[in-house]
Amino acid sequence: MVKENFKTNQNRSALLLNASYEAMKVISWQKAIVLWLSDKVDVIEFHNIYIHSAKARFPIPSVIKLRTYISSVAFRRVRFSKQNVYLRDGYICQYCAKRCSNKELTIDHVIPISKQGPENWNNVVTACRHCNQRKGNRTPATAGMPLLKEPEAPHWITLVELELQNDMTVPLLWQNYLNHKAG
Ligand SMILES: [Zn+2]
Repeated sequence: MVKENFKTNQNRSALLLNASYEAMKVISWQKAIVLWLSDKVDVIEFHNIYIHSAKARFPIPSVIKLRTYISSVAFRRVRFSKQNVYLRDGYICQYCAKRCSNKELTIDHVIPISKQGPENWNNVVTACRHCNQRKGNRTPATAGMPLLKEPEAPHWITLVELELQNDMTVPLLWQNYLNHKAG
């Protein structure tokens, strides 16, 4: 069992680079360690943050590079998940524009599931608990709650950029790699 002892607000994510050094996406430190331990990546930079297991103490990776090149088509599709929806929306409730922490956020189906709203990028948005409850089982139109913007599927690079905007403690050394990204 690995124990976390991070200071709050400390950036602990890893920047994943393609084998060509292009920035691909920001991943969790847990995912970075899994990739590292499975020999899929080389660690280029470390955070000055350590994790402790029963037997060892090791720094967590900050920048990692894939050993095998992944074609851009394969990674341009961003996995549809709650966290990635939050990230796409910048952790901002798409109804009241309030920026919230992970805990205060929910996923809202623009067209409710009960009204055959699909489960995809175009029908889900980040909403604070309050707005989600207020909207209930209604569409934005019937609830009189217009969306800040139309939801759409993000590209991986959008997520990298969003994460950078939202995270105050992005390591400076990431900049070198982010500037390396392909147009
Ligand atoms: Zn709200």
